[in-house]
Amino acid sequence: MTCEGLSSIPYFDGLKFRGCPLCRMINDLERKTIKDILYELTLEYSVRIKFINSQGLCPYHAWLLLDIAKETGEKLGASMIYESVLKAYVDKIDKVIEGDETKCFICENVRGFEKYYIEIFSNCINQRGLQDYEKSEGIFCVKHFNSLINSPNFKLRKEFLKIQKDKLNSLHKKLKSYIDKHDYRNEDPITEDEESAIDLTIEALKGYKTSLSFNTIIPEKRRKFSLK
Ligand SMILES: [Zn+2]
Ligand SMILES: [Zn+2]
Repeated sequence: MTCEGLSSIPYFDGLKFRGCPLCRMINDLERKTIKDILYELTLEYSVRIKFINSQGLCPYHAWLLLDIAKETGEKLGASMIYESVLKAYVDKIDKVIEGDETKCFICENVRGFEKYYIEIFSNCINQRGLQDYEKSEGIFCVKHFNSLINSPNFKLRKEFLKIQKDKLNSLHKKLKSYIDKHDYRNEDPITEDEESAIDLTIEALKGYKTSLSFNTIIPEKRRKFSLK
């Protein structure tokens, strides 16, 4: 795969964000998928079945769907989807409960795209070097930094480590400065960069708000309950 044309879009788009380029692309994908469902696919039978099979997605994506529905005035669409899920659940409550959050189709989709994006970033960095990343405001999170540097074909490990360390040190400096400026003897105003340093620090350590950061534990398969 070469780093040009369509296959390079996620690379250049990812590097436009502040924060982890890979997490941000995944967050974007999750939001777009949910918007498509709410705007166009609410009544689609195959989509309803996927919702019913997962008992309404994993908790992360279910809440994200509702947040997006409320933000965009699509609460009716969300209600129609979850009406089917609730009905299917109630109808089968005394039988085997088939809903299984591990079947969340958005999670499955996201895991596939994460692999694909890592491959694109690894290829593009191999071909273009690290200057795009160095110049960008992005900082790969711990998890994605490790995925990239451990990619089998990744060539620029030493340089990548150095740039990552520089970026983290510069972030640390801003966070420290934010703290120091709370001293009453310090009269310098807090800059925008310092103000956002805590957000970017958590993002660098834990990843951005995506199912990849929150759904780390695969829930136990639901069992049939007994009334005895
Ligand atoms: Zn990340
Ligand atoms: Zn999910």
